[in-house]
Amino acid sequence: MTDKEFEEKYGRPPVKPGQHAKVKVYWDRVIIALVLLALLIAVVVKIISAIVGAFSGGDKDESSSVKQAAVSGDKAESSNDDTSSDELGYELKVCIDPGHGGEDCGAENVEGTRFEKDDTLKLGLKVRDALEEKGITVVMTRDTDVLLALDEITDIANNANADLFVSLHRNSANPEYQGFEIWVSNYEPEADTLLASNILSAIDKVGITDNRNVNYGFFGEPQSNYHVNRCTHMPSCLCEMGFITNEEDNEYYDKYMDEYAQAIADAVEKTAVELEIVDENGKRLISTPYLSTKPQWDSKTQSFITKDEKVNKSVN
Ligand SMILES: [Zn+2]
Repeated sequence: MTDKEFEEKYGRPPVKPGQHAKVKVYWDRVIIALVLLALLIAVVVKIISAIVGAFSGGDKDESSSVKQAAVSGDKAESSNDDTSSDELGYELKVCIDPGHGGEDCGAENVEGTRFEKDDTLKLGLKVRDALEEKGITVVMTRDTDVLLALDEITDIANNANADLFVSLHRNSANPEYQGFEIWVSNYEPEADTLLASNILSAIDKVGITDNRNVNYGFFGEPQSNYHVNRCTHMPSCLCEMGFITNEEDNEYYDKYMDEYAQAIADAVEKTAVELEIVDENGKRLISTPYLSTKPQWDSKTQSFITKDEKVNKSVN
């Protein structure tokens, strides 16, 4: 049968050995397509891992970003960029530090039955809950009965890029001393002072035995600072929530603990709005962590990025 006869009979040309070549071309194309697809997948995987790395690597890079921010101005530059909270991963971040812990019991009452470390932890956890209720991201330096070194406490706050830092303590002295006071860096930074005075007036409204004011430096040593006020990058204050050595202060502390926690959370939120870190709806207004104007401590070199002779010593 000729090709023509075949075509007339079957309606198509006969299959010839040479036609295998067509099949071969088809498979070649499939292989090329598969290679291209594999390359495409490799490129996509690389891009995704780069994006994921950029997000999770943020903390590692904090010291350089803090340095850049410190150089750029005395406080974090304001930006109307809507994506600022997306970049940072939070609208407002606050670090709460319940003082002492573990083997360090802090101060104790006259009978030796009540310890500062327990009081600060109880209040600290309530402050955390009140802040989280507002949708604020909270970093706790501790949420159990553990001891942290002072450097560890400030590293936690700095590495987390918290915007504000509140350390909770109880005072101790002769039993007749009473009242609540708050301590700020002796550099007298405005934002830190605002945070402290907002907290003090909020707890004063709840009820305190005596208002012993916002103070700078360290008791009896104006040239020294509490470590948490000296080595945090963000506005910070140390709250002495009454004297654990005074019975009436302890009664106030126990009776008003929930109200104090709420008052501190409200004051923190108010401060963040007044400093224009967030707006009244909690929407972040700046694209960097908020920095205090006090000298910025670099834990790697154990020195200040910005120098000031006034701050020379770290205590407690
Ligand atoms: Zn203390």
